[in-house]
Amino acid sequence: MNWDEFADWSRTAADWGRDYHKTIRDNPVRAQVKPGDILSRLPAAPPETGEDMQAVWDDFRRDVMPGITHWQHPRFFAYFNSNASPASVLAEFLSSIVAPQCMLWQTSPAATEMETRMMEWLAQGLGLSDSYSGVIQDSASSATLAAVLTMRERALEWSGNTEGLAGQKPVRVYCSDQVHSSIDRAIWVSGVGQKNLVKLPTKGVRKALDVDALRAAIKADRAAGYLPAGLIGVTGATGMGACDDLDALANVAEAEGLYTHLDAAWAGTAMICPEFRTLWTGADRFDSIVFNPHKWLGAQFDCSAHFLRDPDLLRQTLAIRPEYLRTHAESDVIDYSEWSVPLGRRFRALKLWFVMRIYGMEGLRSRIRNHVAWSQALCERMRAEPDFEITSEPVLSLWSFRPKGATDDQTQALVDAINDDGRIYLTQGMVDGRKVIRFQAGQFDCAAEDFDTAFDTITTIARNLT
Ligand SMILES: *Cc1c(COP(=O)(O)O)cnc(C)c1O
Repeated sequence: MNWDEFADWSRTAADWGRDYHKTIRDNPVRAQVKPGDILSRLPAAPPETGEDMQAVWDDFRRDVMPGITHWQHPRFFAYFNSNASPASVLAEFLSSIVAPQCMLWQTSPAATEMETRMMEWLAQGLGLSDSYSGVIQDSASSATLAAVLTMRERALEWSGNTEGLAGQKPVRVYCSDQVHSSIDRAIWVSGVGQKNLVKLPTKGVRKALDVDALRAAIKADRAAGYLPAGLIGVTGATGMGACDDLDALANVAEAEGLYTHLDAAWAGTAMICPEFRTLWTGADRFDSIVFNPHKWLGAQFDCSAHFLRDPDLLRQTLAIRPEYLRTHAESDVIDYSEWSVPLGRRFRALKLWFVMRIYGMEGLRSRIRNHVAWSQALCERMRAEPDFEITSEPVLSLWSFRPKGATDDQTQALVDAINDDGRIYLTQGMVDGRKVIRFQAGQFDCAAEDFDTAFDTITTIARNLT
């Protein structure tokens, strides 16, 4: 393909993209294929000679699209959303065309300096103090790994990278039992080890980490010869939206000298609305904070905003300077590859620049406010139905329910029947050891009517099953 053909096909793709989104509500949200269906349509070997773009295009539409679950469908109420707003898609298109590799300042000064500025814009948007520096990581999982490595190295006085962990005091990290699996992964990969991740019970409606249990665990660990290193808080946990009391956690961390990391991967976006910030009071006392614009803000994957109170701790943990990476002006500039585990980096800031300029902070806020209001209104409608019960109260746009008196199998059967129907997409979860149905809203273009469709779909399918 030459660049003239590229331009023609880009127009075809753009027109198709417009039509795809305009008619997306006509599709079942979850792909309705069986395992192996798509594989069987793909030839077992690559072609020896190049094919026509028209043939590839036709196969894309015929063989690939049926196997797509429509994450941009306005009635995607499963997991958390992963939004790709049109402004963001355009920025990613431009970034793909230029394809800069943004590991050092000099390998694309515009990418580095825009990243610095966009992270400042986001910090202001969230109401964080201007003492934070920011970097865009590929995922919240990577940001958490970087934070756990920092905890480890800081506690071991920077000897883990050189000496390894054998023979060192075991490093301990504390969190609640509500945290995301990416915390466990970071603990495995960092060599800290699962048994040194101390998961503590929670208290209250917000399922906040029990601070008395935390203090007791740290005290017992010190007595047993462990090395308490870090504390991971959560605002808006994936399961049912648990939120820790961040001020209380920061008090303990300060008294005990622990490095603190906050996982607000989903809920962080909502903090652009001042009225929701009570959910994370005390966040700006944390050393490290991550949230995902690639979930709820409209910037498509990959885009995780990672704020650091003292980026030198992270750089001391991760910076490597072989000769070929040395540059002339190195003291005056930021080389963001020193702030993350991977060396290579995409130009991720461009989509944030497009999104914040095209929609404006007020446009983004009004979307979040609508999602929260519509989701909570649906929760109240469901609560008023005698044959359903609400199993976890709304945290922003996330809550859960089940048919009253349903067994776990019956609840799962309802989730499966709803997703086979296709008008909406939901996932199951667990509350207090029992299966529930999770509802969350946050698709960029969803509308009030989509929540009416959700109500009708859930109630009719449930009543037909019994
Ligand atoms: C989605 C999510 C993550 C993982 O995010 P990635 O960017 O996919 O790594 C971590 N924590 C919470 C609370 C999440 O909601």
